Amino acid sequence: MAAKKKKTSAKSSEFKGFEPYKEKKGEEYMNDKQVEHFKHILDAWKKELMEEVDRTVHHMQDDASNFPDPNDRASQESEFAMELRARDRERKLIKKIDESLADVESGEYGFCEQCGIEIGIRRLEARPTATLCIDCKTLDEIKEKHIG
Ligand SMILES: [Zn+2]
Repeated sequence: MAAKKKKTSAKSSEFKGFEPYKEKKGEEYMNDKQVEHFKHILDAWKKELMEEVDRTVHHMQDDASNFPDPNDRASQESEFAMELRARDRERKLIKKIDESLADVESGEYGFCEQCGIEIGIRRLEARPTATLCIDCKTLDEIKEKHIG
């Protein structure tokens, strides 16, 4: 039986490979050091996701021919479908990371794209691709619920 234990990719929606930023008192928001900090997070996260995508593609190519039994092949195919959905999410995430990196370059990173206030270091560390402050995000979600 092909009961290979899969490594789950649950962690791909968050990235923990960094030390939380320690602000000095009175430090300016998004100064060079902070920008550098988030650029590093975004770069490292993107690299991790891209390696994950690569790994799956190779893994699927290796495995595809190894299941002569139709039952094995069927379960393999549904596993592949799940993998592909996960990879699709990761690709979208990589796209968002690229957008955030572009914001870093243009100096817009860390500020709410709707109202312009500071998104905040802790919120950005929890969600490095955030483009909205918590208030605008909450409002957005309420609006979405009304439409959907
Ligand atoms: Zn806002």
